[in-house]
Amino acid sequence: MKTIGLIGGMSWESTASYYQLLNEGVREKLGGFHSAKIIMHSVDFDEIHRLQHENRWDEAGEVLAKHAHALEVAGADFILICTNTMHKVANIIEKNLTIPIVHIAEATADAINEKKCKKSILLGTKFTMSEDFNKKILEANGIKIVVPDEESMKSINSIIFDELVLGKVLDKSKKRYIEIIENLCENDKEIDSVILGCTEIGLLIKKDDINLQIFDTTPLHVNRALHLAL
Ligand code: GLU
Repeated sequence: MKTIGLIGGMSWESTASYYQLLNEGVREKLGGFHSAKIIMHSVDFDEIHRLQHENRWDEAGEVLAKHAHALEVAGADFILICTNTMHKVANIIEKNLTIPIVHIAEATADAINEKKCKKSILLGTKFTMSEDFNKKILEANGIKIVVPDEESMKSINSIIFDELVLGKVLDKSKKRYIEIIENLCENDKEIDSVILGCTEIGLLIKKDDINLQIFDTTPLHVNRALHLAL
């Protein structure tokens, strides 16, 4: 079994899901007392959040690059950055590595293509929805991407940063997400799926909440890691 390096803490609410899903996956595949070999560096999200919101992305990338390097030195065979948003600086994080970073958007694109879905709503932080760092990877894999309008993006983003990363999972926020998804589908009948493109959204939106194929980036990223590790 290979050793999985995790850069977590962004937020720890979803890193906890990574830890649990990786271990459950290894137990399911190998049985007995088997569990995942994991080395984790979990950052103080306050620092990263501040750098993001002060538009100091390169500095945030450098912070994470140090952690990535430490994971490599400690013996990780590959690395997962446990957030969609920080893949914006994946090129900085990987620059001094000889081990690979398993890209969250590539794992997502493969899963969408496997299910033969063609047009997906992308939900995530304002950075993920409005910029193209992950979108361009999905589109390069033949998937059409739809993002919510400005006002809906604002609500989606504030539910992530004011609630989900702080461990607050509220029914009214779930309703707001569902309303945004339904409105988009109402206006575009080609939409066949939704990408939960922020690692905490899966804490709020579950499979049975909507009538669309859901691609939750957290378990998809984990599955790719399990495949590589075993
Ligand atoms: N975990 C989130 C994501 O997947 C948001 C937190 C962050 O800004 O990194 O994008």
